[in-house]
Amino acid sequence: MVQKNRHIPMRTCVICRNRKPKIMLLRYICPRNQQKELIPDPKGTAPGRGFYTCNKDECLKKIGRFRGWIHKCKGGIYNVR
Ligand SMILES: [Zn+2]
Repeated sequence: MVQKNRHIPMRTCVICRNRKPKIMLLRYICPRNQQKELIPDPKGTAPGRGFYTCNKDECLKKIGRFRGWIHKCKGGIYNVR
């Protein structure tokens, strides 16, 4: 009986690197249209590669300056040389 739904998907906050249940994290996706910042994806359903942060102020502040996504978003307009 307890077996059902026991697996909780975990994701790592890209800022503090803590692993948390996906539902506790905020999702961002690769920017489009020349934007230089990740796009928040509050519903967590947008297609594309996702990045997660926890909802701590610290992490939310740092996501604006987080650049680790640049390499991971390549294939789009962000082929950084
Ligand atoms: Zn965090």
